[in-house]
Amino acid sequence: MKKSFTNAHSHIFTVNHAPDYFLRTGIGNATFANWADKFLQKDGTRWAMKGFLKVYLLFASKERRSTVQRYIEFVEIGTSANQSDIYNSLLKNYVKFGDFKIIVLTQVLDYLDLERSSNHIRIQTQVEEVADIKRNALYQNNIYPFLGVDARQTGFDLLEDWAKKYISPQYGFYGLKIYPASGFFPFDRRFDALWAWAEENQIPIMTHCTRGGSFYLGRFESLLSTGALKVASLNEDAVSMPSIRSRISNVMNDPSVQTKNRIWCNIFGHPENYKPILDKYPKLKICLAHLGGANEVLRGDPNATAADIALGNDYPVYLKDNWCEHVIELMKTYENVYSDISYTLSDPKALGIIVSMFRQPNMVDKFGTPLINKLMYGTDFYLTQQEEKGDEPSLENLFLTSFNQNEITKIAYDNTTAYLTSVIFP
Ligand SMILES: [Zn+2]
Repeated sequence: MKKSFTNAHSHIFTVNHAPDYFLRTGIGNATFANWADKFLQKDGTRWAMKGFLKVYLLFASKERRSTVQRYIEFVEIGTSANQSDIYNSLLKNYVKFGDFKIIVLTQVLDYLDLERSSNHIRIQTQVEEVADIKRNALYQNNIYPFLGVDARQTGFDLLEDWAKKYISPQYGFYGLKIYPASGFFPFDRRFDALWAWAEENQIPIMTHCTRGGSFYLGRFESLLSTGALKVASLNEDAVSMPSIRSRISNVMNDPSVQTKNRIWCNIFGHPENYKPILDKYPKLKICLAHLGGANEVLRGDPNATAADIALGNDYPVYLKDNWCEHVIELMKTYENVYSDISYTLSDPKALGIIVSMFRQPNMVDKFGTPLINKLMYGTDFYLTQQEEKGDEPSLENLFLTSFNQNEITKIAYDNTTAYLTSVIFP
């Protein structure tokens, strides 16, 4: 595979691909999200929302104005008519590179609440639309789609009828994308054959790895009653399983946390959940995205201030371990565990810590490979749009001015190419 500047992490799904209530987790500000959500559920109110916001902006304080402005941009992109419009608006930031690659992650958004119905566009259609973009001669050399997969997909075989179909020269999907916080464990036995195949063929897997982002939106009881929290592991005897099971039972025995999905959904995406998989498939190529998140990077810094360390008072002690430290440990222990700086880089302070962290002499895996050879550039477009420095040119500029040339070559060219290369796409 030819090397070129690569964004390893982007999204182009629209709000029409997500359940109606999705914006509540997509947007950080709950009031604004609920309000935008209501508007978007009705037909023909998008223009009204934009009109209202324009008037609102005239009267808002300067600070409030820039926040709302960013939310509008986020909603604006998310409510674009289709995925190819969004891809187009992303692409225009990259044409200056001539040759470039953009990994576009499709995502299963169909099980965010097992008790509520929604008539959004399902994952099958989302994937077919991206396959169409990949077929377009204008885009096919730049777009590298990943296939969303969820343990709860039914009606077909995940490996034979889903992964093998799309991750093929015919459809042009290059890897797999999972999002455990939407309500499943990555070590779920239903993934066993898929992970075995991915390891054997060196198919790259991308997984979301922060406490934040979107998460399961239904009631805790809805997962409890379906047995989702006691699901069989593909490696039940793994040394890490008792610790994982105890984290789950802590949540099951803690009613105070069960109404806070933002917190208890941590049990799904916790970095330790990858250990049972990696002990069974040690060469699995998987990227634990975002280095655990900016807050975890800040918390791990010896010079962190009290504000940096705060996780929020409602976090129970048993969920307070540092995800960034876990991700680094996994990168050190397993040969093909990658991470990316997407989203996290929008926090300049966190980015500064990452730059110096990866220059430390102890940042080497147990095979002798420096960890900077497994770190990738990505932006998390367009979910970053709500951050102050979250637009593509700002993120690119932060990246290019923070790392040195040698590091940039690794992070944006060499590592991303190695990650994308598989038996199917050599
Ligand atoms: Zn993402």
